[in-house]
Amino acid sequence: MLNSETLAQRYNAASTANEQARIQHQINHQVSLLAVSKGHPADRIKELYELGARQFGENYVQEGVEKVKALADLDIEWHFIGHLQSNKSQLIAEHFDWLQTLTSIKLARRLNKQREKVGKPLNVCIQINIDQEETKSGIHPNDLLPLANQIIDLPYLRLRGLMAIPNPSSEESTLTESFKAMQQLQRQLSEQLQEQTTAPIDTLSMGMSKDYELAISCGATMIRIGTALFGPRARPAPNNE
Ligand SMILES: *Cc1c(COP(=O)(O)O)cnc(C)c1O
Repeated sequence: MLNSETLAQRYNAASTANEQARIQHQINHQVSLLAVSKGHPADRIKELYELGARQFGENYVQEGVEKVKALADLDIEWHFIGHLQSNKSQLIAEHFDWLQTLTSIKLARRLNKQREKVGKPLNVCIQINIDQEETKSGIHPNDLLPLANQIIDLPYLRLRGLMAIPNPSSEESTLTESFKAMQQLQRQLSEQLQEQTTAPIDTLSMGMSKDYELAISCGATMIRIGTALFGPRARPAPNNE
């Protein structure tokens, strides 16, 4: 078991590494640290919150909603980063601030409707299957612009950018290519949509515990860190819900 001192040390180490990567690679935008808390109890989230973390990511609907409810008195921005089945979209629309894994206009329309009663838009990222892996969700880069163009017309969704999980077993050079391809896609998208939308496409969510420094060097604006903060997950997460 990790004690809270260790959690503090890990949090400080990740924050420092984030800062140093930005300096080393002359990145002049902030890089948000999303704490990925799947498999860890609400108490651990609260500990990390007390150390200063404000953005948390969950992968499973039921587990995530339970934590959102348990920690409702804290000022947390909740991100859903798992695969979302359309029959569970209502819970995400009601309880989360961000959905990073949007891949279809059908789901987007459904969420838009379900979000209306919350009154403020749900922030969304489109997930790109950048290495075109069969087992991974995410759209093909060629399908990005048509989907993005439809999403920006939905009043209760706010398109913020892109998210990807490159193949983690790739060699560093291949991984770098994938991260750079994402950076390129995000730049193009933000230019292409500049005239249609006033909301900036300002988010590039990529990089996890093992590769976040590389992701930062390739322009990530948000890194998603689980293990490097919380340690190994207490139990294997379920494959799907
Ligand atoms: C679990 C998960 C992470 C965090 O992974 P670590 O290797 O533990 O840092 C990041 N992004 C997504 C989409 C995840 O499912």
